[in-house]
Parts: sequence; structure tokens; C-alpha cells
Amino acid sequence: MKEYKIALAGNPNSGKSTIFNELTGARQHVGNYPGVTIEKKEGYFIHQNIKITVVDLPGIYSLTPYSPEEIVARNYIINEKPDLIVDIIDASNLERHLYLATQLMELNVPVLLVFNMIDEAKRKGMIIKTSELSKLIGIPIVETVAHKGKGINALKNKIIDCCISSKVNFNLKINYGNDLENSIKKIIDILDNSPVKSKLNLKWVALKLLENDTEVINEILEYLPKESELFSVINKERKRIESKYNDTIETIIAEKRYGFISGACTETVFSSVEKRHNISDKIDMFLTNRILGIPIFLALMYLVFWLTFNVGAIPMEWIDNFFGFVSDKINSIWHTETVLKSLVIDGIIGGVGSVVIFLPNIIILFLAIGILEYTGYMARAAFVVDKFMHKIGLHGKSFIPMLIGFGCSVPGIMATRTLESKRERILTILVLPLMSCGARLPIYLLIIPAFFPEKFHTPIMWLIYMIGIVLALISARILKNIIFKNETSAFVMELPPYRIPTFKNIALYVWEKSYLYLKKAGTIILAISILLWFLSSFPKTNNYSVNYDKMIKKIEQSIELSNKEKQEKIAEIENLKSSEQIKKSYMGKIGLFLEPIFKPLGFDWKISTAILGALAAKEVFVAQLGIINAVGEADEESASLKEKIKNEYNPLIGFCIMLWALISAPCIATFAITKKETGLWRWAFYQFFGLTGLAYIVTLLVYQIGRIFY
Ligand code: GDP
Ligand code: MG
Repeated sequence: MKEYKIALAGNPNSGKSTIFNELTGARQHVGNYPGVTIEKKEGYFIHQNIKITVVDLPGIYSLTPYSPEEIVARNYIINEKPDLIVDIIDASNLERHLYLATQLMELNVPVLLVFNMIDEAKRKGMIIKTSELSKLIGIPIVETVAHKGKGINALKNKIIDCCISSKVNFNLKINYGNDLENSIKKIIDILDNSPVKSKLNLKWVALKLLENDTEVINEILEYLPKESELFSVINKERKRIESKYNDTIETIIAEKRYGFISGACTETVFSSVEKRHNISDKIDMFLTNRILGIPIFLALMYLVFWLTFNVGAIPMEWIDNFFGFVSDKINSIWHTETVLKSLVIDGIIGGVGSVVIFLPNIIILFLAIGILEYTGYMARAAFVVDKFMHKIGLHGKSFIPMLIGFGCSVPGIMATRTLESKRERILTILVLPLMSCGARLPIYLLIIPAFFPEKFHTPIMWLIYMIGIVLALISARILKNIIFKNETSAFVMELPPYRIPTFKNIALYVWEKSYLYLKKAGTIILAISILLWFLSSFPKTNNYSVNYDKMIKKIEQSIELSNKEKQEKIAEIENLKSSEQIKKSYMGKIGLFLEPIFKPLGFDWKISTAILGALAAKEVFVAQLGIINAVGEADEESASLKEKIKNEYNPLIGFCIMLWALISAPCIATFAITKKETGLWRWAFYQFFGLTGLAYIVTLLVYQIGRIFY
């Protein structure tokens, strides 16, 4: 079978992901982490017996590397040389979106344009003569309404056509005017006679050099020294043009490109009516209202948590019962007490099972967040908070990665690439783990119902999330004053129009998150559960401090106690016995070693070991409590984990556990991505120890003050 590789490019919100989903369906390979299209997503489809691999590039506005996304996308196009670039364009914002297209065409790579959102364009009263425009610029154009699946088949046909013929011969010639064209020519002449054998179109390189594109300059510097004739010519030309037009050369070049687009569009795009205030504007008057905006945001978050709790509780019960049923069944069939049996029941079911139980809640949470995101509300949330963030000296744009951080810190941190200033980025990365990620949810879902009456469930959950947000904002503010004393850069926030999300988009979004959650449970959490089980089960003790068996026998023979009382007493003693066994295990030794450190926070040695396990992944905390409470467990009816911790600890300790889980050191994956994205170990360590220190202080204060009243 013939195979080709294509890449989807386009401005953010042009419908790229929708088209990607329509093209590839479920045949996609999503990177390691959930999140918005920041990293490269790959998928494929087979059409006319040809296999087309599709890569979803990050959303970009131009090929000028203003943002890391733009660098990523550009490097991909240049280095990987896909057979075709499919540039997705929001037809209702035609002129603005065509800017990227002109840059792609200049690169001289094969391009196919997709005019998506034709429905919106029509609603706006635009009449686009697509075939004429296509002839004018010399590039094929396909029209689609992606979320309805319209035009997708035609798009597939056209993609195949373009891949097979693979001719790159645009009659596109943007005329930059005599002045610029002269400069370009001079530079091309020098490049032509130099060792620079660029794989790139030389005119494009010349333009980029004039535009002061650091990436391209660095590449050229590998061949030509800074003192060479080339760079002095570039400098001279730039000065000449800038002084003549009294503007920066970047602006002059951009204007020429826009001029070209505008020219092409005046000939082929017409407007029937002008509709002012559309529905989006009306909704925005309400949702981004100066007074109502923030309360609405808070209320919506409250609703999301309410749903997570109340709707999630039902299927959660089923799964809980299911695991209980399975371990009771195994118990009744498998009579001999082997190590393997303990591994299966205590280690695997106790550990992984206690994490899997929360899958329904994860699904509901992401369903709700997915809907908010795809309707365009999340962009409003960032907009609303922007004003507020400015007041405390931060950038509103930082809030978007933070919102993603509610899902998982890893893609959240990757999304900080949209921030222009490096300092702003590092600052946001450092505090981002304070946004409570999905992996902490199981901890809250275990603790809250165990210790608090039902009517407080949602408010407490909401409170925990808010504490995270507030701490993040405060620490960012403080860090800014300590490390970076720099002004925030101005920036214009885009508000995409409201849209009704498609079932497919939401379903894929939820599927992606749930799949990753389950995968984590089946891989890393399984592995760590087995390790934790081992540490909790060995070495086996034979000499107990007290002769429990004798005590039990005594109670059994006693005549003063009723049967029920006997059972209760025996269970109590068995608990003491198993507790002593675990205490003498490796895990117990680690826990006892840590206990003095965590005691002031109200944590005993069991919680201390769970905290250690949570470094690998936050969910492990729950798994660990599950294992510790299952190992050595008396064989009768196993009470649920919730019941057990309820008997062992109190609400204050429960709250402190949640605080710790929220604030303390992020998981290993976050640590690694912080190092990767900031480029320095230093920041990863600052984050790790800074957050852990903060967690210690906050939890200590809450526990010690709480104890006075409790
Ligand atoms: P991306 O940022 O480019 O990946 O854009 P998405 O694929 O996430 O799409 C943004 C929004 O536009 C989603 O809510 C889609 O459902 C919606 N959308 C996609 N294509 C169309 C279209 O042709 N018409 C309309 N009206 N909406 C669309
Ligand atoms: Mg997308």
C-alpha cells in the first residue's frame, strides 16, 4: 500500500482538531499526556487504498517564531518534510487566517487549503468564490463544515490527489515592492555564492533574515561568521528600509503580505449583509461581565464538582461492590493462605482497585470540563480572570495553562509555551502544580465522604480547589517580587465565538483522559502497588509483642460476653495484630522513620508511607492506604477502605491529608516536564522543594491551630 504523510496546520480555533478527528477517527496516537493540542498528535486513515498519516501540529498564527508552538510547527514542516501541508482556515475570518497560508506558500512546500466553518461564513453573509480564489493563488481549496462532517470525503480525495501529483509550483508571487525586492535579491545573491546549502527556499531565508528571525540566523551562522559580508548587507538593508518607511521591517513585510491577501479577497469574497451584534456578543455581555464574570466562573466550577460527586457516587458504588465481590469470591475459593493469594487480593485488588473505583468521577469531571472547553467558555474564563490577574500583577494568559492543569499538570506546563515572556513562563510553571490535577481527585473522593456529612461534600471539594488557585496566585505574586522584578507584557485576548460542541469531540476528549487514567492504573500504579504490597508484607513476623492468639481464644471461651461483643473484640485484636505485622515490615520501618517528620501535621506512619508512594503518582496515595489496610486483614466481611480510615482518623487529619496532597511536591512526571520545559534542573528542584515546604507550613498551621478547637 502506498503511504504518505501530511500535517495539519492552522490558527488556533480554526477547527483543526475537529478535522483531525474526522479524518482519523479513533485511529490516533495521542502522546503520553492528556491535554489540548500542544504536542504532536498522530493518526492515520486509509482512502482509495492509500494510507495517509496525519499529524496535528500546534495551532499557530504565523511561521515567525514568536511562540514555541510556532517554532515546533515550523521545524516540523521544514525538517520532517511532510508530503502535504493541509492549512485549516476559518472561512469566517478569512483574511486573518490566510496570513499563515501566505507564509507556507513562501516556504515552497506543498499546501492544500481547507476553508472550514463555511456555515459561519455564510451566516456572516460572506460569499466566497472559492474556485476563483484558488486559481488566483494557485492552490487547491476544499470547503468543509467539519463539525457536521461536511466536505470531509472531498477533502480526503483532494489530499490523495495532492500527495500523488506532489507538484509544488505556485504562481504565487507576493510583491514586496521595489525596495524590499532589491534587498531580497542582494541577500539571495550572497547566499547563492556561499557555503550555505539551505534545504529551504532562498527567498524565504532572505525574508527571514531581514525579519531578524533568530532561528534562521542561528542556522546560517553555522556556515557564515557574524562578521561576514552577508550580515553587514542585511544590517545595511534593514536600516535603509526602516528609515525610509519609518517603521520596523517586520511590520512592513507583514503589511505586504496582508496587502496581497486583501487584494486576492477583494476580487473573490463578497459580503451580502453586515450583521452586527451576533449571539456570541450577547452571551459575552453576560458571561464576561465585569461584576458577574467571576461569580459565574466560581458557580460553574461548583456545579462541575457537584456533578462529579453526586452523579459519580452511583457507578462508584457498583465498582466498589464489584471489587468487594471479587475478593470475597477469591477468598472463598482459594483456601490456602499463600503469598500469591495475598498479592492478588491485597496488592493488586487492594491497590489498583482502590484507584479504578474513581473512574466514573474522572469521566464526569472531564465530560464537564470538555464541554466548557469546546463551547468556548474556558477562553472566557481566562478572559474574566485576566482582569483580576492584572490586579495582582500577573498575566491573564497564564490562566489558560493553569486551567489545563486541572486535568494534569504535565500538559498544563507544556501549554505555557503560549506565553511570550520566559519569566512569565517559568513563574507559571512553578506554581502550576497547585492547580489540583485529576490524579488528586481520588484522594479527595476517598477522604471527603469518609469524614464529612453529605451536605458538605461539594463545598469542601470546591474549597480545596480554590485553596489551590489562591495559593498559586499568591505564590506567583511573591515569587515575582523575589525572582523577577519585571513588568508584564501587554497582550490581546482572543474570544472565539461560542459553539455547540460536537459529540465526537467531547467523546474523544473524555476517552483520552479516561484511557490514560486506566492505563496509568494498569501500568505505573500496578507496579508500585506490587512494590508497596511487598514492602508491607515482608518480613513476616512470628514473635508478636503480645500473644494475640491467646487473647482471642480467651475471648472465645468467655461466658460473660454476648456473641456480638465477642466478634467485635476479636476483630479489634486482629486489627492490632495485623497492624503490628505491618509495623514490623519494611514499609513499617520506613513509615516509622518518617513519622517524626510528619507527626506535627497529624500524620501517622501509615499516611507517611502513602505520602512517599504518592511521589510516583498521586493516585498511589489511595492505593497505598488500600494495601496497608488490606494486608493482614481479618478474613471476615471486609469493610470498605472508607469505613476503615473513618475509624482510624478524624476530619481534621482528613482535611490535612487533602491539603498535603494538593500542595506538596508534584509527581515525578511533573518534575521531569518542568526540567524539560524550563531547560534547567534548578527550576524543577525549586518547584519540588518549594511546594513541599509550602505544604509543610500550611498543613502544620492548619493542624496545630485546628487541634486547639477540635
Ligand atoms: P482547533 O483549535 O483548531 O483544534 O479547533 P477545534 O477543532 O477544537 O474547533 C473549535 C470549535 O469549532 C469546536 O467547538 C468545533 O466543534 C467547532 N467547529 C469546527 N469546525 C466547525 C465548522 O465547520 N463550523 C462551525 N460552526 N463550527 C466548527
Ligand atoms: Mg485543537
